[in-house]
Amino acid sequence: MNDKIQTSPIDSPRRRFVGSGAAAVAAVMTAAVSGPALATGHAGHGMPGSPEAGGVRFTGSEKACATCVFWGGSRKAEKGSVLASSLGTCNNPASPNFQKMTSPDHVMPQWVKWPALG
Ligand code: SF4
Repeated sequence: MNDKIQTSPIDSPRRRFVGSGAAAVAAVMTAAVSGPALATGHAGHGMPGSPEAGGVRFTGSEKACATCVFWGGSRKAEKGSVLASSLGTCNNPASPNFQKMTSPDHVMPQWVKWPALG
């Protein structure tokens, strides 16, 4: 019995394509999550909560994605404010950004306050 798995020449280009495709997707996802969207900062928000500290802080009265009930990014409500640390998907069907990635500081009319902010 031959235990060695053999690959045909037809499979090789496909394997290279799948391998390089996965690497490209990983690179795009890394750039989207940790890329310049948060590095540009949020005016008036220094430490704590600066991008260097792992997030950007928003007050509960700021009408931005970070404080919107429909936003799917990484965030934490703390004493009436939000610490956002990623881009996130908009889950509001009434928004032109529905199912798109948005920055936590994105502002638009379909915003609805996140109940966690009180
Ligand atoms: S794009 Fe508008 S509706 Fe969507 S999460 Fe941001 S503020 Fe909310």
